[in-house]
Amino acid sequence: MKKQWVQKVEALSDVKWSARGISLYFSIPSGTSRSEISLVAKNYVKKAVTPGQKEAYGSDIDAVLKGIRQIGSEAGKKGIAAFSCARENYLQILPVEATFRFTFHAGNMPYLFPLRLVLEQEPEVGCVVVNQKTAWLGEYFLGEIEEVNTIAGEIPRKVKDFGFEGRDELRMTRRVEERVSQFARDVAEKTLQLASERNWDYLFLAGREKMMGQVWEYFPKPWQEKTLGMLKTDPENINAIYKIFERKVEDFVHTQRELLSEQVLRESSVGKKGRVGLEPVISALNDGSVQALVVGLDFTSRGYICPQCSALSIRGGKCPYCSANLQEERDIIPFALKKAHQQKAQIVLLPNSTWGNNAGIGCLLRFIRLR
Ligand SMILES: [Zn+2]
Repeated sequence: MKKQWVQKVEALSDVKWSARGISLYFSIPSGTSRSEISLVAKNYVKKAVTPGQKEAYGSDIDAVLKGIRQIGSEAGKKGIAAFSCARENYLQILPVEATFRFTFHAGNMPYLFPLRLVLEQEPEVGCVVVNQKTAWLGEYFLGEIEEVNTIAGEIPRKVKDFGFEGRDELRMTRRVEERVSQFARDVAEKTLQLASERNWDYLFLAGREKMMGQVWEYFPKPWQEKTLGMLKTDPENINAIYKIFERKVEDFVHTQRELLSEQVLRESSVGKKGRVGLEPVISALNDGSVQALVVGLDFTSRGYICPQCSALSIRGGKCPYCSANLQEERDIIPFALKKAHQQKAQIVLLPNSTWGNNAGIGCLLRFIRLR
């Protein structure tokens, strides 16, 4: 799944327009009906695109809004990435199961940083559904599961069906048990092989309790620890189980993010590794000490960036690091995200309500600098 997305982005990165075009990203608030998606887009454009940009890229903006209206009924995703070069009649609209900050970017090619960020940060989860005879191996990424493999075991039918008794029955029972555990081992091996080939971050198991347990026992410890959950179920309808998976994995990812944002708040209030507010976050980013950055989806702030050493600042004047003249930016957050990404920080975009009256941006430090 991730591979397909990476290929999609690679294809987009080869696109060069002969004239300037636009890239537009935004999130669709939960509960938005599909017919209202283009309205959401329109409101963002109204609020965040400058009159100058509207004049220069009016036909691109119109093309994107029209395109979003058309796909609106089939989108059903959390976010939209759109690219348009009206002069070339180029239009691409991608519904993505991920949240994006509103981004408007003009240039000679699609602006792909927000999409790349999502692909890097979203986990890919291997999903193993197993009963006594069959195992289905699927892959979850960005809200969808795709099946990658099916394994069939050769398990003899129940002994009693043949009416054996005594020693024969005992022998048959043993044979069945051996085959079952052989099957569990095969499933575990195939799972681990796929996990390493396809770079899975986590695993999720479902199926008959005993089989699941046996498969899990064959995993080495790191993969046992990367098993997010085991869902006890009778795998009759594999598609129904995949639907449950999609919800469970999404819940897990969501919870991880909530926990991280709570950790930032908690550790900031007791003077540990958390920092809340633009100034301390920028100072940590300039230090290169950010382990995780948490930003409210709609949080924006004017700020300054050094054209020479790319240091960030909330005040203008000379760069405190190299004395170059700082440049003013309408919104410094995209630069903060880039800087965080360069330091390999985890990046979490939060719905705006989550932090209440807090400053809309926070981070977790890798370490605390002692002075
Ligand atoms: Zn500088």
